[in-house]
Amino acid sequence: MSTKTILILGGGIGGLTAAAHLRRLLAPEHRVVVIEKNATFALRMANLWLMSGERERPEEGERSLSRLSERGIEWVEAEIETIEPVSRTVKTTSGAFAGDYLIIALGAERHPQAIPGFAETALNLYEAQGAVAIRRALETFDGGRVIVLVARTPFSCPSAPYEAAFLIETVLRRRGVREKSQIAVYTPEDLPMPVAGAEVGVALVQMLEARGIEFHPEQIVMKVEPSSHTIRFELEDTKFDLLVGVPAHRAPAVVRQAKLADASGWVPVEPSTLQSRHPGVYAIGDVTSIRLPIGMYLPKAGVFADEEARVVAENVAAEVQGKSPTSRFNGHGFCYIEVGDDMAAYGAGNFYGIPAPRVTLEPPSPRYRLQKHEIERTAQSLWL
Ligand SMILES: Cc1cc2nc3c(=O)[nH]c(=O)nc-3n(C[C@H](O)[C@H](O)[C@H](O)COP(=O)(O)OP(=O)(O)OC[C@H]3O[C@@H](n4cnc5c(N)ncnc54)[C@H](O)[C@@H]3O)c2cc1C
Repeated sequence: MSTKTILILGGGIGGLTAAAHLRRLLAPEHRVVVIEKNATFALRMANLWLMSGERERPEEGERSLSRLSERGIEWVEAEIETIEPVSRTVKTTSGAFAGDYLIIALGAERHPQAIPGFAETALNLYEAQGAVAIRRALETFDGGRVIVLVARTPFSCPSAPYEAAFLIETVLRRRGVREKSQIAVYTPEDLPMPVAGAEVGVALVQMLEARGIEFHPEQIVMKVEPSSHTIRFELEDTKFDLLVGVPAHRAPAVVRQAKLADASGWVPVEPSTLQSRHPGVYAIGDVTSIRLPIGMYLPKAGVFADEEARVVAENVAAEVQGKSPTSRFNGHGFCYIEVGDDMAAYGAGNFYGIPAPRVTLEPPSPRYRLQKHEIERTAQSLWL
């Protein structure tokens, strides 16, 4: 059997999971190479804890990718500049690489500049430093209007803006300034987590209402005016004192330039195998577009990146070993939704359900929140 090289582009949730499974499944002579520009990895769910004050510093959740070598995984610390899917080669700031297989796990690029005024004004929940800045602002906030603004769909983790609103409500209440504050979520969606179905969405709206948090659906932001603290939507305007933003997302530049994306802006793949239209090239996680029978796309979430990575790793390993690849991604996923007061709700189901996803939401409990923290610990020790 000849020696094979599997190039994994991106060392986030999907890339690291694929690397860990491939290393476990393949004999040591086969190379598993992760190309990632950042030197450390952290789960972004921790941004919510940085925002609420539960976690002090971003470094607390970070792990160094240099640990990969201890597991027999090569890490190239470099920015990928071009991808050539037909020849399965990439050019990077550390030279060119060729693989027998490519696994594209480059995630989504945040694009705050997509909305005029957004980058200058909104504190960015999707960056660790932005989450810290939100916490600092909340610590001295003495009343006024806090808006959680979703700039565009799709965005990673459909529950995150709502979790942020719930946590902000708890922080302000515990600080004794809740009575003097309004909290509102503005989003282009018609319901929270729309792919999960109306039952889940309505349940979340009711939880928002129960905590006095306004929900403004179907709001497309046109611009934010920093000087007057005004958000201009297509149909109305609103004022804010503190603006918490979920920026627009797009596929990373290198993916767009390689013309790997389709009209959706993301990389289309076969839903059960994550195979792209190029042989030997797979895409997993946030960078993909997977259209569901209801016409919507599979949400961008770490839980899907993780499971898709396992499926691709098993199938690539089988091929390398001369066996037939039989692993299939079945669209199952789950998430823990922070609702404040040290509790989380739990949503889970089959997003590939026909005719529509079948997702249920378990009521909030402190137990689910503990399980969410446990996920961070176990996931990181699996990879690094
Ligand atoms: C606030 C917040 C909370 C979240 N909470 C949850 C949650 O509770 N549950 C859940 O399932 N998901 C959650 N998510 C979503 C989750 O973080 C993403 O869905 C997940 O990280 C996607 O994994 P991925 O491997 O596709 O991409 P990523 O994890 O983003 O990894 C992509 C990697 O590619 C690298 N990269 C990109 N371009 C290049 C390049 N040109 N050269 C080299 N490297 C490059 C990036 O540096 C990055 O490390 C949350 C997200 C946020 C922002």
